[in-house]
Amino acid sequence: MPGFTPGRRWQPPYYPFKKEPLGLRLLEWVERATKGPMFGCRMCGNCLLQETAFICPMECPKGLRNGPCGGSTKEFCYVDETRPCIWYKIYDRAFRMGRQEILMEVLPPLDWNKTGGETWGDVVHQIGKVGTGKVISGLLFGDGKKRKETWESVFQPVRQPEWWGGDSQYHAPSYSEPVSELEKRLKAGEFVVTSEVAPPMTVATNKLNSNIALVKPYVTAINFTDAPSASPRMSSWACSALAVQAGAEPVMQIAARDRTRIGLQGEVLGANSMGIKNILCLTGDSMRMAADPRGRMDIVDIDSVQMLWILRKMRDEGKYLDGRSMKFPPKYFLGAAASPFASEPKFQAIREHKKVNAGAQFFQTNLVYDPDRFEIWLNELAKRNILDKVYILVGITPLKNFKVAQYMHNEVPGVTIPTEIMKRMEAAGDNASEEGVQIALELIEAIKTKQGVNGIHLMAVGWEEIVPRIVTESGLLPKDFVPPKDIELKQS
Ligand code: SF4
Repeated sequence: MPGFTPGRRWQPPYYPFKKEPLGLRLLEWVERATKGPMFGCRMCGNCLLQETAFICPMECPKGLRNGPCGGSTKEFCYVDETRPCIWYKIYDRAFRMGRQEILMEVLPPLDWNKTGGETWGDVVHQIGKVGTGKVISGLLFGDGKKRKETWESVFQPVRQPEWWGGDSQYHAPSYSEPVSELEKRLKAGEFVVTSEVAPPMTVATNKLNSNIALVKPYVTAINFTDAPSASPRMSSWACSALAVQAGAEPVMQIAARDRTRIGLQGEVLGANSMGIKNILCLTGDSMRMAADPRGRMDIVDIDSVQMLWILRKMRDEGKYLDGRSMKFPPKYFLGAAASPFASEPKFQAIREHKKVNAGAQFFQTNLVYDPDRFEIWLNELAKRNILDKVYILVGITPLKNFKVAQYMHNEVPGVTIPTEIMKRMEAAGDNASEEGVQIALELIEAIKTKQGVNGIHLMAVGWEEIVPRIVTESGLLPKDFVPPKDIELKQS
């Protein structure tokens, strides 16, 4: 096991996609022979060890380079339970070393042109650019501030190529008028409700259309999931376009799992031109959750933080990732998932803060069943001063029966259901669905007044008929609510 990367098991190194001159190949060999035993280096060619507390993040099976996924725990990685979550280890060590704020920088996806190649050459080149004498004197004889500046003058340009330009700053949206109804209502201070409608598993759209019509009067926007649990369904893009046709406002979810940087940019342009104005960026459930035969377990192209960074720059700077300008940039309201119960609240807060800096304007959280623990996470966000920069919609799922509760608790990454709720669901027997609704109503009541909460995101998971009742009984009907009966009368 490599000395500096705990829990690391052997994973194959990357190889260059081109033939390199002998000198470079020798350098690559030396780098691998040195960093391999120390860090388990896989030769990604885009080294981030300085930023990740000297633990290589390329052990993460999803290939994440900007922090943990929503399933991260102290105990193990949810994709491969025989190893620790390497991002938990990185955060843990970064806090112990006082280097946690370094984790805030939005880091680029791999430049595959460099993958398999050495990184020392870039560092040496940059030292030459800064001036070897200046670097040596700055590092050896400077005070703490000077040493840091000198270090950054060498490594910052290496890890942040011009085409990316990532930083640790908050970038406010470049526009002022809301681009969607969801944004408009949130900006106006309205407590909103959004709801998920499950995409169909066939080409038949009757059920989809009737579910859209059913929930539309009760919610501000409707989410369409993007192949949840890594299992294919009708695309979120198509469902969102159908919702627009039906006069409803969609939130299109995009999972990085199934995208490349090229596909992502093309897809949002197409979606935006079809009237889709809310986009939720997710890393996506691991292929580990899929049925056999499984595809690659690793996500190798972009993570959700990188998605936000790319989409924000497309909108606010009118630029593609490769730097080309576009004449008519897209306009959308950008969201991200937040996971209050994964890893530790202070770790997750760094991750959520980074998403806000990258471009997230609203969060829809993973399922919340424990308002007290949820508040700890909210407090961590408050400490980071981000509650005024992002709208938070809290994820609520009414439990239909005890089996569903068990599945959620045991199988869904980042979801924990307190024992007391589990006992209530078990004891309810045939009346379990009613008990599930009562629990959901109690949770909404406990959560809706918490500072920093701007709305509820109902994930009924195939139980859309319950949405009108929960919205009505929780007193969260939209201000301009028109009962469906009256809509029908008007239309007839
Ligand atoms: S739990 Fe998630 S972030 Fe952690 S190593 Fe596994 S896939 Fe990566």
